Amino acid sequence: MTLKTLHIGLDDTDSIRKGCTTYITALLVEKLQALGVSFVDYPNLIRLNPNVPWKTRGNGALCLRIRFDENLEKQIKETVISTIEEYSDMECEGTDPGVVFFKGEKIPKTVSLFARNAITGVVHLKDALKLLTRFKAEAIGFKDGRGIIGGLAAVGETLQGDHTYEIIAYRLPENYGSKRRVDESSIFEMDKATAPHTFNNVDTEKKRVIITPRGPDPILLGIRGETSEIVKKAFEMVRPLEPVERWVIFRTNHGTDAHLKKVKSLSQIEPYNPVIVRGVVSSEPKIVPRRHIIFSIKDENREVDCAAYEPTGALRYAARELIVGDNVEVYGGVRSVSEDRPLTINLEKIRVLKLAPKVTYTNPACPKCGKRLKSMGRNQGFRCEKCGSKYVDFSKVEVKMAREIRQGLYITSPRSQRHLTKPFRRYGLEKHGVISRRLIVCWHFP
Ligand SMILES: [Zn+2]
Repeated sequence: MTLKTLHIGLDDTDSIRKGCTTYITALLVEKLQALGVSFVDYPNLIRLNPNVPWKTRGNGALCLRIRFDENLEKQIKETVISTIEEYSDMECEGTDPGVVFFKGEKIPKTVSLFARNAITGVVHLKDALKLLTRFKAEAIGFKDGRGIIGGLAAVGETLQGDHTYEIIAYRLPENYGSKRRVDESSIFEMDKATAPHTFNNVDTEKKRVIITPRGPDPILLGIRGETSEIVKKAFEMVRPLEPVERWVIFRTNHGTDAHLKKVKSLSQIEPYNPVIVRGVVSSEPKIVPRRHIIFSIKDENREVDCAAYEPTGALRYAARELIVGDNVEVYGGVRSVSEDRPLTINLEKIRVLKLAPKVTYTNPACPKCGKRLKSMGRNQGFRCEKCGSKYVDFSKVEVKMAREIRQGLYITSPRSQRHLTKPFRRYGLEKHGVISRRLIVCWHFP
């Protein structure tokens, strides 16, 4: 018996109205296990650049990494393909599933680099196809085949750096589309008991549960955290009020800021790229229709707009308090230029590096009696109403005002964070160095 390693990358099987690539992955875990394969890692759930306009709903691609007896190869591939065919929303325009079969234990550097680019920038199908040919990998693209991009990216991102886990539980098909029923108080209790090792369970601003999605997809809930053990423990603390069909623990790049790439200057930012960049506030924040906040930042080379959108409570509040001259580092996706708007960064975070002094000008006090003087008109000097003294050569005095914002980091509220956005709770918990791929005994059901 000869054992082989295979990486199976999947993407773009879902649509707004139906399905979820994680669900197909969960089904495959059960089916492949039944065939007798072993898993060398948790299924990887890789979120790709959320700023590309042609993304899928959650822009998540999946990879299963397995070891198996080479005699099973044909059967494994047939199982994967037939499951995708059965559960993808093929009729939906814009759903273009792809699957990649990549053999070998080691992932080549160029494939990892392709994955990095798919997470932080823009990649093209022809680049994916070139790599597939070069490494003799197989791929099947349904319809326009765009899913092959994400499939290969998921194969290439082996999560060697910072990563997190998510346990996802699925509903019975007959419950799809109905309101999700989970005891909310048990979620708040779970959050308290597992903090800071789980994250984005609840939105504390709105006192709202955010582990249950809305919409017709098969997911009942997903709990994110630092280890497979903690997300499983957290799941056991939550009381679902409807049957759970299955659950799986995924290893992910959620909450790692993996999409954000530091650039040195505003001249280097490009449309669709998520960036971290520094600048000086160059126009006062203004509220535009539908209550977005827009301000500009500049450096020696360029000036760009930054936008904080309405649902981003805490961040939007901070953005409103900025003034010209503040030094900031902004985090977000770059939106392309159009006729009516310049290049704009859609903010996920702002780090206030240095606050400019906020000053106002006021009339001086009377040196004799201390009363605030009255102006006698522009450049006419001042007069004291109390003691009658006049001061023709006095001018207004500068007064420093208190700022309503402090230096530090401001992040969008959990309810509007992107999958990839690193929340406050994860700061200091980042993983570095060698990672253990040891799987816990029971990481999926059934
Ligand atoms: Zn006076």
